[in-house]
Amino acid sequence: MARYVDNKCKLCRREGMKLFLKGQRCFTDKCALSRRDYPPGVHAQKRSKVTDYGLHLREKQKLKRIYGLLERQFRLYFKEAERLRGNTGENLLSLLERRLDNVVLASGFALSRNHARQMINHGHFRVNDRLVDIASYRVRPGDKLSVREGEKTKKMILEAVEVNKAQVVPDWLSVTGEGFLSEVVALPRREHVPHPIQEQLIIELCSK
Ligand code: SF4
Repeated sequence: MARYVDNKCKLCRREGMKLFLKGQRCFTDKCALSRRDYPPGVHAQKRSKVTDYGLHLREKQKLKRIYGLLERQFRLYFKEAERLRGNTGENLLSLLERRLDNVVLASGFALSRNHARQMINHGHFRVNDRLVDIASYRVRPGDKLSVREGEKTKKMILEAVEVNKAQVVPDWLSVTGEGFLSEVVALPRREHVPHPIQEQLIIELCSK
């Protein structure tokens, strides 16, 4: 699966806000946005007026970048959100929240979304006692996420749990077993999405 491999801080600078793509670094003075609070690119600072289309586009790009999606993956999620009953924007956010990499991150088992993906790809997690190594795997209520046996895995998770100890786990997840188990107790709703996304703008853009 193709993925974005360039400097992630450029994405935050482009969106003009912290997208928290680099774990703990995002909370320190090393955050690129705190030092270069302007878009990347030679002429970026000369660009002035943002059009209506630009506003809508930036919102979509922001969402894709937060969840680490490329355009094609985003389109598939959008189509599915449209097919589901209810509000398309809320469906879209709920589908994204239910990705396994997001569940690992929200449970406090990883330092960043990339770290979560890497650990999933390397087979450190099980869902309902079966190994799942696909970051986009969609969890359902009742699913139980557990950590693979092994000292190396345990050490990584313990480190992440320690770093994330102040993080509030959303109430659609229940973390137990001294931080080694996470259960999906409900479907995520709009109020569980921790990111400042105006999904209505995305729907207006993509429905045209
Ligand atoms: Fe964004 Fe984190 Fe880089 Fe800061 S350190 S610019 S929040 S990815």
